[in-house]
Amino acid sequence: MLNRQRRSRKTSSRQIREEKELVLPGTDLTFLFQRDGCRTLRMAIRPDGSVRVKAPARLAMEQVFSFMHARLDWIRAKQDFFAAHRGAPADIREGGSILYLGRPFTIRLAPSDGRSRPRLKGSALELPLPRRQEGADAAVKRAFARWRLETAKLVLGRRLSRLERHARAVFGDRAAPFSLAVRSLKRRWGSCSARGDIMLAAQLIALPLPLIDYVLFHELCHLRYMNHSPAFHALLHRLMPDAKTREARIHVWALEHPR
Ligand SMILES: [Zn+2]
Repeated sequence: MLNRQRRSRKTSSRQIREEKELVLPGTDLTFLFQRDGCRTLRMAIRPDGSVRVKAPARLAMEQVFSFMHARLDWIRAKQDFFAAHRGAPADIREGGSILYLGRPFTIRLAPSDGRSRPRLKGSALELPLPRRQEGADAAVKRAFARWRLETAKLVLGRRLSRLERHARAVFGDRAAPFSLAVRSLKRRWGSCSARGDIMLAAQLIALPLPLIDYVLFHELCHLRYMNHSPAFHALLHRLMPDAKTREARIHVWALEHPR
């Protein structure tokens, strides 16, 4: 059963109470420092190389710094790894290639009468090419972004309601998202607020369906647990016994196909 009381309490312990940019003393390493109500110190290196550290409300700064100093080599190695795997975003031009549901599609620019819309045709994505040469590149990129957003809203919306019904049937509860928004998000695949507002990245539609399903099930489990506790993972495992493998695949995918 969905337990709102419990959810809101969990959320308040995760709430950020303080946030600032800091430099690790003795180094040139900058990082985002946050304090919340959780009991453990956590550190994450994002694919863009940025470092985020979350600390319990009362933990002394010296302890945070010594924790980071002890892991400095690891942080640098992670940053180097991400830097080596980071590439230019997909090139939206004639003959370029995009991914849709894990399959490559070749971009074809078709002269536009001003009203034609992007469409998938065979193994190509046809984008309207404006008549005017000037600013055409930007217009084509905008057309692609619009197509991706509209398609993502449709595809992810349908898929989410299907998986949502499935999750309710498995858990025998009535948990449902409060709202769904699809946006272009560079850093996250999705998120879920305490109220149940689910936000999904339009970029998700590049992924193969099993990986999209992983993200959707993940967010749907957050309707039941607003954290990544063992209880949360147990729920996810019931919906998707190979969730761990899919999570690892999505990570590799993001490195191989930078957004
Ligand atoms: Zn999560």
